[in-house]
Amino acid sequence: MKVVAITGERECEIVERAMPTPRDNYALVKVLVAPMCTELGEYKRGTPSDCLGHEAAGEVVAVGERARVKVGDRVVVMPQNGCGRCEWCLSGEHIHCPTPRDPHAVCGCTSGRATYAQYVLQQDWLVYPVPDGVSLEHASMACCGLGPTFGGMQVMKVNALDTVLISGLGAVGLGAVINAKVRGACVIGIESHPWRANLAKELGAEWVFDPSDPDLLSKIRDVTGGHGADKSIEASSAEIAPSVLAQATRLMGQLTSVGWGGPIRMSEVVYRGLTIRGQWHWNHLRDGESMARTIRSAQPLLDKFITHQFPMSDVKAAWEFQATGQCGKMLLKPWE
Ligand SMILES: [Zn+2]
Ligand SMILES: [Zn+2]
Repeated sequence: MKVVAITGERECEIVERAMPTPRDNYALVKVLVAPMCTELGEYKRGTPSDCLGHEAAGEVVAVGERARVKVGDRVVVMPQNGCGRCEWCLSGEHIHCPTPRDPHAVCGCTSGRATYAQYVLQQDWLVYPVPDGVSLEHASMACCGLGPTFGGMQVMKVNALDTVLISGLGAVGLGAVINAKVRGACVIGIESHPWRANLAKELGAEWVFDPSDPDLLSKIRDVTGGHGADKSIEASSAEIAPSVLAQATRLMGQLTSVGWGGPIRMSEVVYRGLTIRGQWHWNHLRDGESMARTIRSAQPLLDKFITHQFPMSDVKAAWEFQATGQCGKMLLKPWE
């Protein structure tokens, strides 16, 4: 099968690797859509790798002897490999599994861990069925496009009475705008890139402010009746962002970070009575139906969110374009 390999700084190739073979509860998924995510950083750094990508949607083409999915099933591949036995895996929080399985060891092969590839292996319980009437492209947004901020909005119970503040309107933060709009919430964004600020408004954000604006906090208070946002999502990973959001969130409000940014002063948290959470992904075992409803009702927004699609053979051009920042979510097509 064909896979993407990084061979040097901003250098990559399509290379041939052995076909993975599913065993036990693993399924072999033909990757038809591979959403692009943080791999851009590896491409820029030039770390040699032929194991890239953690987001995919496609079709099951072979199964291990114990797998409870069948050939022909359309699925979204969840990231990471949980053990399936620990308390986190059993409660649907496999992303935090401290004892993950190694698909190469279980299946006795040397490929199939990555999604910038024509095939990937995943356990039957770590694939999410594509909802009926939904395209693979839209369903693949259940990975990082919508997933982490969907998880954050589930735990904060974001609803139509809320004003949600979202910092960082890259591919994850733009997904947060969609999650908030599907729930009927009012959205304030913080983003410096004009192209992305504009896309956020097209997706329904009521206000987008520049993080370098010296009046940022007072502007956020002005549009929230002087209170600050009810609930905030940090998706920028900027060093200062969590602290800014803590100050821009209303007293007794909630802040969830999906970004891996800097510190928050505890005096700020205690003084304001905030509830602070970290959210890496979403719980597909508990919240699968809610995600299906989100994807179905967001379809017109997802068409705006997915701005570019590239054949995998053009991955270098895709990465160079992603580096401009003038994009929402980008998709690779391993079979084109
Ligand atoms: Zn586990
Ligand atoms: Zn991702």
